[in-house]
Amino acid sequence: MLTNDNDRRIYEEELSPRLPQKLFDAHVHIWSKADYPADFRFPDKNCANRFGGEFTLSMWRDIMAELLPQQECHLNCFGMPNNAADRSKTPDGALPGDSINVLISPADAAELVEERIDRAGAVGVKPYWNYAAAFYGKTSNEVEINDMLTPQQLAMLDRKGLAVTLHIPRSGRFADKVNQRQMLELCEKYPNVRFVFAHIGRAYFMKNIYQSNIDDFVKYPNAYFDTAMLNHEGVLKYTFDHFPAERIVFGSDAPIAFLRGKSVEINDQYAYLMGEDYAVGTSIVDTKNAVNFTTFFYEQLRAILNTTPKGHVSDVLFNNAQRVFRKLGA
Ligand SMILES: [Zn+2]
Repeated sequence: MLTNDNDRRIYEEELSPRLPQKLFDAHVHIWSKADYPADFRFPDKNCANRFGGEFTLSMWRDIMAELLPQQECHLNCFGMPNNAADRSKTPDGALPGDSINVLISPADAAELVEERIDRAGAVGVKPYWNYAAAFYGKTSNEVEINDMLTPQQLAMLDRKGLAVTLHIPRSGRFADKVNQRQMLELCEKYPNVRFVFAHIGRAYFMKNIYQSNIDDFVKYPNAYFDTAMLNHEGVLKYTFDHFPAERIVFGSDAPIAFLRGKSVEINDQYAYLMGEDYAVGTSIVDTKNAVNFTTFFYEQLRAILNTTPKGHVSDVLFNNAQRVFRKLGA
């Protein structure tokens, strides 16, 4: 059992009256121990260990039934993009209405990725900076968006009309000019790829979204943002004020989102206040149980419900994603 009495009260009083009947989570990590070498272990306090070192689709379904008992839930999922993960494996047990993605490294030939996509019936790919770092021998700060996918891979994705969930690199995040330029170039050059910039470009605090030039993205119909791990109402409000709600999709970053905590802005930075002793990026753990936490997932839903423009709640929480994550010919 994940939820407690306080969570159930939040659902009954705050969420249930405002949530649509169907919810689509555009950003979920699903993996099993079988996707990793037998002797592989995540570091002790890594949040990947919270549910026993794996997070399968059936585990996800059980938790969603607890968190949103009255909703019909679907997801867009990919593995945990760890260097040790076997990228030929994709999440098992998707149901109609769910979508899956292939983990992709610049080391993977476009033909090989295409085979994996076709075999799995995937809707797109999930690159991650660490794969580019490993392939090009760069440090995390040296990786650029252009390192994360090869031109051959992008041409293949464009031909097939698939989606890319892109977690942008570099410490400046969405405020970084090199990132902005390369994001816009991708949208321009590959019009049939739907680029879902994860975590609203990782702009978890106001200064970052103020400097994002998000208005420049409006003219590219294939530019989307997911809201994974965003519970900052100011950032969400700014995003909705400057970008069409039709191209914002709710994402949670489960299973990380199923931990107890809240992301907070502190002096032009942000930190994860953790209600349990796991590391999620820059974390401050409430070792003394000073406050009662609910899950990041509920905090995110609260923030989305409080900021989504009137009439767009079902779009952001379900409908928009139906246009983004679709198979070839579907
Ligand atoms: Zn993620």
